Amino acid sequence: MKKIGVIRCQQTEDICPGTTDFIAAAQGKGAFAELGKCEVVGFVSCGGCPGKRAVARARVLIDRGAEAIALASCITKGNPLSFPCPHRDMMLQAIIAKVGEDFPILDYTH
Ligand code: SF4
Repeated sequence: MKKIGVIRCQQTEDICPGTTDFIAAAQGKGAFAELGKCEVVGFVSCGGCPGKRAVARARVLIDRGAEAIALASCITKGNPLSFPCPHRDMMLQAIIAKVGEDFPILDYTH
C-alpha cells in the first residue's frame, strides 16, 4: 500500500475536514487509482496564501514516509467552494523543484 502525504488549502479547513480525501485514498479511487489503495501518512495545509509553506511541508511529509504527495482537490478543483487556488501552479512547480521531477505528485485527490 502506497504511503501518501496530502497538502490541502488552509482557506477551506473550517468547512472541510478532508473526509473524502481519506476515503478516496483508502479505496484507491479518484486520483489515487493510478497508485491503488493508499495510506495517508500526513495531512497538512499549504500554510496559507500564497502557499509557500507547502514546499517545506512536502519535504517533511516525505521525511515522514510519504511515497507520493497529493494536492487536495480544494487546491486544484476549488472544492467545496468552486474556488480553485490562484497560486496552485506556482505552488506545484515549487514543490516539484524541491522534491525532484521523478517524485510522484498527484495534482488532485477526488
Ligand atoms: S495558497 Fe491556495 S491553497 Fe493555500 S490557502 Fe491560499 S488559496 Fe488555499
